[in-house]
Amino acid sequence: MKKSVLIIGAGGVGHVVAHKCAQMAHVMGDIHLASRTKSKCDAIAADVLAREQVSITTHQVDTDDVDATVSLLRELQPALVLNVALPYQDLPLMEACLRAGCHYMDTANYEPRDLAKFEYGWQWAYHDRFREAGLFALLGSGFDPGVTNIYTAWALKHEFDEIELLDIIDVNGGDHGQAFATNFNPEINIREVTATCRHWENGAFRETPPMSLHRPFTCPQGVGTYEIYRMYHEEMESLVKHIPTIRRAQFWMSFSPSYLSHLQALQDVGMTRIDPILYKGVEIVPLQFLKAVLPNPGDLGRTTHGKTCIGCVLQGKKNGQYKALYIYNICDHEACFREVGSQAVSYTTGVPAAIGASLILSGTWSGKGVFNMEQNDPDPFMDALNRYGLPWQCIELSREQAESLCVD
Ligand code: NDP
Repeated sequence: MKKSVLIIGAGGVGHVVAHKCAQMAHVMGDIHLASRTKSKCDAIAADVLAREQVSITTHQVDTDDVDATVSLLRELQPALVLNVALPYQDLPLMEACLRAGCHYMDTANYEPRDLAKFEYGWQWAYHDRFREAGLFALLGSGFDPGVTNIYTAWALKHEFDEIELLDIIDVNGGDHGQAFATNFNPEINIREVTATCRHWENGAFRETPPMSLHRPFTCPQGVGTYEIYRMYHEEMESLVKHIPTIRRAQFWMSFSPSYLSHLQALQDVGMTRIDPILYKGVEIVPLQFLKAVLPNPGDLGRTTHGKTCIGCVLQGKKNGQYKALYIYNICDHEACFREVGSQAVSYTTGVPAAIGASLILSGTWSGKGVFNMEQNDPDPFMDALNRYGLPWQCIELSREQAESLCVD
């Protein structure tokens, strides 16, 4: 099969993935971009041509229709399908890849439309079919999940004998100047942040009410102090499975008071509901209607300033001694906009997606079956992060600093 990639999804993340794949064109081969709305693919291709002098071929496809996707895959014969559409599309796209004989990767795990629940079980169930077909499926190659899994795997490979405690901290210190907007697809974002919180402790996931635990967090290098909230995030599920010494895993994300008060009001009036209601004889889902009136995250780059700071605080043992590290990246919204015309949340997702694709297409990462990020060698991914725009830092912490999440 010819070396080539088909990117699916022409939203905020798809825009960055297309630019970064173009920067790695020597590894990618032919680059195709397909989505439900072809005009969005054409706009991205024009921007890539102008900035990177690389041509991308565009196509229309609705990937909920597996037969239509299989026809496109048989026509284009890409080695890899890089899925940056929505989590609802993961299973139909995995089916299509199996039927057409393509490798598969994504950045977010499957969610059914009618149930706000995300877990890897649905996608792990495809392992035997991908193995028997001799195909590789890579799950979660964004930043979180994605880079956070790789930071943890790298720390285990080089810095620890055993990791016991993991805190993943995702701070967006950016300001987009809007009263209320989400940094990636509003429907997926709101389903995620309103979900019951789950964290891993002593062999089981423990549930607590959404947003019920929070604390201030001061980012390094002057990014600032932000309130971070404990919530569920999918990489904890794969990390505690593949690194069973982890006793406690928690995920924290920053939210501004304005974001939270708007979200509360939207929840209170029923606008975040995902069950259909009848409006003038037509069924609509309130959250999907809300998405239609909110700002498009892909358009926020022009007005967003400030920085993101995402990383892992890891505690464990090396040579029988306690050890703690903080591994992180700081990314500047305005620098991302200058480079590719996007804000940093799309950028920090799109760069690792393109890196994952490059490692599959170059044969650096390979396998038969369905794999999470931490099951692969982290070293080439960590090198590529430094080369393609997401340089990382690693600092040693005292026990007191790690326990209180004081990294500055
Ligand atoms: P957007 O809503 O901006 O873009 C989604 C794109 O997918 C749109 O172009 C949309 O088409 C297309 N699409 C939706 N349904 C279909 C379909 N049935 N067939 C074909 N195309 C379809 O989302 P984002 O770019 O913000 O996010 C993309 C993905 O990245 C999401 O899965 C999100 O969860 C994930 N993500 C992962 C992160 C990580 O760190 N791991 C962080 C942030 C996001 P149309 O324009 O016609 O609607």
